[in-house]
Amino acid sequence: MKQILVTGGAGFLGSHLCERLLSLGNEVLCVDNFFTGNKRNIAHLLNDSRFELMRHDVTFPLYVEVDQIYNLACPASPVHYQFDPVQTTKTSVHGAINMLGLAKRVKARILQASTSEVYGDPEVHPQQESYWGRVNPIGIRSCYDEGKRCAETLFFDYWRQHKLQIKVVRIFNTYGPRMHPNDGRVVSNFIVQALKNEDITIYGDGMQTRSFCYVDDLIDGMIRMMETPSEFTGPVNIGNPGEFSMLELAERVIRISGSKSKLVFRALPQDDPRQRQPDIGLAKRELDWEPKVHLDEGLANTISYFRQLLA
Ligand code: NAD
Ligand code: UDP
Ligand code: UDP
Repeated sequence: MKQILVTGGAGFLGSHLCERLLSLGNEVLCVDNFFTGNKRNIAHLLNDSRFELMRHDVTFPLYVEVDQIYNLACPASPVHYQFDPVQTTKTSVHGAINMLGLAKRVKARILQASTSEVYGDPEVHPQQESYWGRVNPIGIRSCYDEGKRCAETLFFDYWRQHKLQIKVVRIFNTYGPRMHPNDGRVVSNFIVQALKNEDITIYGDGMQTRSFCYVDDLIDGMIRMMETPSEFTGPVNIGNPGEFSMLELAERVIRISGSKSKLVFRALPQDDPRQRQPDIGLAKRELDWEPKVHLDEGLANTISYFRQLLA
């Protein structure tokens, strides 16, 4: 049994991670400031004596004793991370410094939830970990993209300078139950619109692509990464290589939910990447991991979650 800190543990991915770590027999300390997270996501864990919830902002120092740290605290959807961009950068950068300082003091292994956004609007396709990315440093997505890139830099400098045991995963678009209904992300938007039989908003021509990973697969990959030998740091891509245009996604959501919604076209947001697809060769080799849940199956689970939430 390990004592494991999960920052951002009341969020979408964090709550699934807490649940999985508990089910594997660990003690879990969930730290969250509830900016985008919700107590509802972890309410079912509060009765477990091995689970502890702490309201705390990771931009401030944290003194606890743990064996492992999963650093997920950070708003993840463009609507939320652009709401207070300065706080977004602080969360990634000061949050990383504090969690790395904590890991250094207690000699904990620490995993950073990085993102495919470090590749920006890529000119290499699919993206391999060796690709350095094409990120606008001064645009509206920069608070998130550059914050996450700086966090990666900090992780590797603490590794080189202080010999910390670090793990960096670059997460590609992930979806599933407990996504925030108003976070503006494409999967939650389309599902909520479809269930209300409202127009489905396609930004741009809908030909831009994304690769969608179901949350259970993602959590499996993250935990496998944490358990790799200490010399393996990553960064490693975790995502589902199945690539779909936003038009294809809309058609699937309409079909699976049995919706009467129509498609409407809206302006494409600034700096919106044209395409994104992970090369997961490294994860296959080093983690013996690949996603198992097909998009239709994952969408069906997510749709039934939102159906209950909206009822
Ligand atoms: P989320 O918004 O549901 O979860 C983030 C959590 O962090 C929330 O509970 C929020 O309240 C908390 N938080 C934010 N700022 C904080 C702070 N200063 N101190 C403490 N807690 C804070 O988003 P998510 O989709 O679960 O994302 C989790 C992590 O995974 C994020 O770091 C995100 O960048 C990364 N990620 C997610 C995706 C995805 O597709 N979901 C893709 C790439 C990377
Ligand atoms: N820190 C923390 N918890 C700890 C140890 C450190 O939050 O248990 C924070 C502390 O605020 C510090 C930061 O982590 O500013 C970086 O710590 P480090 O030891 O690397 O640097 P220093 O303390 O020398 O600035
Ligand atoms: N998108 C869309 N309609 C929506 C929400 C998003 O067409 O209602 C598009 C968006 O422009 C982007 C893609 O879907 O091209 C994925 O957007 P999301 O915000 O989910 O993730 P990210 O852009 O960070 O990958």
